Amino acid sequence: MVNQFEALKKTDIDVYTALMSEMERQSYGIELIPSENYVSAAVLEAIGSIFTNKYSEGYPGKRYYGGNQFTDVIETLARERAKKLFKCEHANVQPLSGSPMNQAVYLAFCKPGDTILGMDLSHGGHLTHGHPVSHMGKIFNFVRYKTHPEENGRIDFDELMKVAKETKPKIVLCGYTSYPRDYDYTYFKEIADAVGAITMADIAHIGGLVAAGVMRNPFDYGFDIVTTTTHKTLRGPRGGMILCKKEFAEVIDKSVFPGLQGGPHMNTIAGIAVALNEALQPEFKEYATQVLKNSKVLAKTLMDSGMKLVTNGTDNHMMVADIVTSFGYDGKEAEKTLDKIAITANKQVIPDDANPPLRPSGIRIGTPAATTRGMKEADMEKLGKWIVEALQAKDDEQKLASIKENVMKLCKSFKVPGIKVK
Ligand SMILES: *Cc1c(COP(=O)(O)O)cnc(C)c1O
Repeated sequence: MVNQFEALKKTDIDVYTALMSEMERQSYGIELIPSENYVSAAVLEAIGSIFTNKYSEGYPGKRYYGGNQFTDVIETLARERAKKLFKCEHANVQPLSGSPMNQAVYLAFCKPGDTILGMDLSHGGHLTHGHPVSHMGKIFNFVRYKTHPEENGRIDFDELMKVAKETKPKIVLCGYTSYPRDYDYTYFKEIADAVGAITMADIAHIGGLVAAGVMRNPFDYGFDIVTTTTHKTLRGPRGGMILCKKEFAEVIDKSVFPGLQGGPHMNTIAGIAVALNEALQPEFKEYATQVLKNSKVLAKTLMDSGMKLVTNGTDNHMMVADIVTSFGYDGKEAEKTLDKIAITANKQVIPDDANPPLRPSGIRIGTPAATTRGMKEADMEKLGKWIVEALQAKDDEQKLASIKENVMKLCKSFKVPGIKVK
C-alpha cells in the first residue's frame, strides 16, 4: 500500500505539509476537469520507485548506458501493452508528456514552414495544434479548421478538402482538448490521401476510451500516427505515447530520441506499463463505459436545467457549457463559483469566443475522475442539479455553502485511489 511519507516528513516538512493538504483537497471535493483522473495505488508505487535513478538513453537493447537490463524489461512491457491495447504495430512510450509527443511527430515529418492542418483552439483543438502562442505555431504553418456553428459540432469536410487542396499540408491532424463529439476519421483519411499527407490523430483526451473500445480507434480507419497522453482517461502517470504503423517506427523513434529528448523518465514508464496493464483488464472497459454513461446523464441533467451546452450534448467524457448564454456572466466567474461548492471545473473558450482567454465564455466539465471514484448516473444527476443551482445562486454565499455541504457529503462515500484519509 501507499507509504506514509515518513522520510519526507522528517526531511522536508514544507513539502510534506503541502502534500497532506493536497491529499485532503483531492478527497473532499469532486474533480470534474475532463483532463484529470486518479491513478491507482499500484501506478503510484511504480512512479515513486527507484527507476527514477536510472539513465536509459536509447531504446530497449540499444542503450547508451550500462545497467539497463531491467529498464529494458519495463519499457518493452509498456510498448507491447500499448500495441495490444491500441491495435497498432509500433509504440514509443518515451515522450515526457503530451506536448513533446506532438512536437516529436511534427519534427519527424515536417521542415520549418511546412503546412499542418489542425483544429482551431476555440473550437476544441490543443495549443500544440498550432496556436500562435506555441513555438510550434511559429515553426510550422498551421492552417486551422473549425466546426459548424449551428450543427452540434459537425466539421465541414467539403470545406476542409478544399482547404487541403489549396494549402497542401504534410500532416492532416485531428484531435481535441475541448470537443464533446467523436470524429468520423474516414473523412480525414480521404482528405489526407487526396493531397498525399500523413494522417495524425491526437487522442490525448480520449486515449482510455479508445483503448477500451468504447470510442472509435483511428487505426481502424487506416491512420498513420496516433498520439495520446497517458494521464487523462488512460489513468496512468503524466506522459505521452506515439503509436504508429511499422513503416514510421524508425523516424518516430529517432525524432523522440535523440531528436527532441534525452533520457526517458523510467519511473514514469514503469507507471505507464502498470496503467496499460490495468487498461487491458475487463474492469477498465466497464470503467470507460461508465465514463460515457455518466457524461450523457450529466449533460442531459445540465441541459434539462436550462444550461446551454456547446454542441448540444456529448459523445465522449466531456461537455462545454456556454456560461454567458446560460447565466449572463463568464467562465472565470463560473469556475470560482463552483470552487465554492467543492466542484473543480475549468474555464474554457467556446467556438469563436468573443471573450478573452482568461475570461472566456464557457467552462469544461468531464466525468473521468468522478467515475474512477465510483460515481454512477444517480450521482451525476445530483451533481448536475447542484452545478446549475450554484451557478444561478452565484453570489448567494449561504446557498452556496449549503450546496457545498451536499457535495462534500457525497464525496465522503467515494474514495480517491491511493489516498488514505483518517
Ligand atoms: C492534454 C493534451 C495535450 C498535451 O498534454 P500535456 O501533457 O499537457 O503536454 C496535447 N493534445 C491534446 C489534444 C490534449 O488534450
